[in-house]
Amino acid sequence: MNRVEKARKVRYLIFPLLFAAGSVLNTQAQSLERMRELLQEIQQEVDSLEKEQSRTLRVQEKPQPVESVEYVDDVIAVDTLPSGNEAVMIVLFNDNTWKYLRNRNYVKDSEVYTRCWDTTKLFPYRDVVALSDLPRSVDIQLVDSLKCYHYPYKASIRSKFGMRRRRKHQGVDLPLKTGDPIYATFNGRVRISLPSSKTGGYGNLIVIRHDNGLETFYGHLSERIVHAGEWVEAGQIIGYGGSTGRSTGPHLHFETRYCGQSFDPERLIDFQSGILRRETFLLKRSYLDIHSNASQDFEDEEDEAKEQKRAEEEKKALANAQYHRIKSGDTLGAIAIRYGTTVSRLCQLNGISRNTTLRIGRSLRVK
Ligand SMILES: [Zn+2]
Repeated sequence: MNRVEKARKVRYLIFPLLFAAGSVLNTQAQSLERMRELLQEIQQEVDSLEKEQSRTLRVQEKPQPVESVEYVDDVIAVDTLPSGNEAVMIVLFNDNTWKYLRNRNYVKDSEVYTRCWDTTKLFPYRDVVALSDLPRSVDIQLVDSLKCYHYPYKASIRSKFGMRRRRKHQGVDLPLKTGDPIYATFNGRVRISLPSSKTGGYGNLIVIRHDNGLETFYGHLSERIVHAGEWVEAGQIIGYGGSTGRSTGPHLHFETRYCGQSFDPERLIDFQSGILRRETFLLKRSYLDIHSNASQDFEDEEDEAKEQKRAEEEKKALANAQYHRIKSGDTLGAIAIRYGTTVSRLCQLNGISRNTTLRIGRSLRVK
């Protein structure tokens, strides 16, 4: 356990203790005041330790993965307390738990939420920010010390990011059951919440812009439960999975974008385990390309899905294939009758014609 973790642990222990202590003090006001003072002291201690740790982190090469936060839907915030750090507050919940939360009022000043902010256009950066305008690489702090992260959906990927035939798949496809909850990945503000008729293939779509400057896209939803302009927290349910728009079966089409340019979401998230791979992400311009500042081509996605299905059926058929060893006197007609098939099917399966000579001892695929 390092010093920061130790300090955190102390903080977790002290908070409930203070609550207990507070009940025996004469007035609530006194106890609250004392509690605030103590919390401020603890916070200052943690802040200085974290600063020290961030200096040492620069030489640390191994990225630190972040586990998904727990988010319970029916817990309600009942009060907030200052934490000693203006950007952070302490929120008390009705189940006697508490956690640190980013102060949204603080974040709202950020130009992240004003530049190219458009609640109807899916790609507001297009024609405004070119790929060549972007720096060669940019350090993106995915989560801060509050570790506000939640996987959008946990599953093994059906279709990866990248080139498919001649076109680019702008995100990853995660198969799901219609109605499965979909979560906000980081804290942020909903920029797009639009129905199928307005998203050109994405179906019911939600786009969230995050404090860290990234945008995440959640496509093909069966239901959207947040609206444009709403502030959301990592782990909040934003909608339910489905198959709306151009889709071949229920799945989440999930994209990560920076200034409108898509990059592989697997660089950030291990979708199988749901873990965020690192706290800080070095986004290189080479991860992006000029073609990515565009909408997903779902016609291509549909074709791809059909092709995959055909290939799977072919594979299955091959696994169930049956063979017949040719004996003296065998004819295609007799073999067809014996296995309940036709001569033309036998020819098709074996790439032969009706006149091909059957060689004794050879195997013929019959199913
Ligand atoms: Zn997709």
